[in-house]
Amino acid sequence: MGLTGIQIFQMLPKTNCKECGVPTCLAFAMNLAAGKAELSACPYVSDDAKQKLAADSAPPICTVEIGTGEGAFKVGGETVLFRHEKTFFNKTGLAMLVSDDESDETIDGKLGRFMELSYDRVGLTLRGDAVAVRSVSGDKDKFASLTKKVCDKTNRAIILMTESPEVMAAGVDACGDRRPLLYAATADNADGMAKLAKEKKLPLVAKASGLEALAELTKKLNAAGVEQLVIDPGSRKINQVFQDQIRIRESAIQKKFKPLGFPTIVLPFEMTDDFMMENVYASMALAKYAGIIVLSDFTGQNIFNLLLERLNIYTDPQRPMKTEQKIYEINNPGPDSPVLCTSNFSLTYFVVSGEIENSRVPSYLAVLDTEGLSVLTAWAAGKFVGDLLGEFINKSGIKDKLQKRNIIIPGYAAVIQGDLEEEVGSDWTVNVGPREAANIPAYLKENYS
Ligand code: SF4
Repeated sequence: MGLTGIQIFQMLPKTNCKECGVPTCLAFAMNLAAGKAELSACPYVSDDAKQKLAADSAPPICTVEIGTGEGAFKVGGETVLFRHEKTFFNKTGLAMLVSDDESDETIDGKLGRFMELSYDRVGLTLRGDAVAVRSVSGDKDKFASLTKKVCDKTNRAIILMTESPEVMAAGVDACGDRRPLLYAATADNADGMAKLAKEKKLPLVAKASGLEALAELTKKLNAAGVEQLVIDPGSRKINQVFQDQIRIRESAIQKKFKPLGFPTIVLPFEMTDDFMMENVYASMALAKYAGIIVLSDFTGQNIFNLLLERLNIYTDPQRPMKTEQKIYEINNPGPDSPVLCTSNFSLTYFVVSGEIENSRVPSYLAVLDTEGLSVLTAWAAGKFVGDLLGEFINKSGIKDKLQKRNIIIPGYAAVIQGDLEEEVGSDWTVNVGPREAANIPAYLKENYS
């Protein structure tokens, strides 16, 4: 945000009504200026002020959307340097490269892996985002044909890679309405690439050698009417890539330097021939602060690690991942099935439910809302205790479905047994289950099958 806190304060109602969660309009204005508050938190801002402030509060790093429909993803839109200051909003896009000098067999194998490598974790599907199609031959027909093949075999986003506007135009036509990202405009081809991107309303990568040249190029492309830019400072040595990524992010966020206020693209496949090192570089770029990373290939060994690293970085640190409080049915439970209990921290829920599923023992799983805390932390915070868990079980209606009424509490929460027994009454037997989720299948098989 470019306006100072005092300038913003002048546009606020100055009633100090506190509805925005802070005691005064001045405090709210200061938070807004620091990017720590949302304008929508004040219901009394006039339409005129809203308009001025909204324009000024656009994120310092432009948000760019690539692809369409289910395959679309966004990059950029970031507002902070460090995740713990607020959160990172749009996760790094992971792309796999195919080139028109590769054999059909190689390309088919890569595309097959790209589509297959998808993982369900904590209720989310983790997978690659885009296929980067590169022209090595410079032959526009070959490029168009490869692009068409990629479009037919995947619904994910497409990145077209050539510095020839003519070859690029053939790729764009082959993409139809898939909204590809064009890589790349340089000082030499900027006019042709900008014309194509503007005409087709497509996002464009600006590539230059060094940050100063890059800033000049983005200004030129903006002036030509292309707003949706991704930037590549041209560095291919890891230490320089690291420095450039940080300088770009700092310039955009701390210095509000608009010519570098765009998401970046990093190409580890151009940095080494060693696939393992390529992935080490990708991992570093993921941490600081690549918008898109293009890898030479996807295998289970490399992409799973990067997807998990990305999941950790792009999870909102201020909002615990949690699941809904309810009684879940696993393996078709019946009137004699036990009721296991756990907290609603997503990871705990998915690990526990996964182990119950593995046991094949029909069971109920009572998930108590602990505000996303794990069992032990929730117990320490007074959120996974006998009376709360008992109250939830009593109100859930599960009792009426059961003939045998067995509750199993996690081994780590054994101390709540007495309170829980008191709360649910003598109709129930409260058992202490294993401490580790991994021991649940053996425990269930031994006691309930
Ligand atoms: Fe001021 Fe609006 Fe906050 Fe009320 S809600 S204190 S008017 S900024």
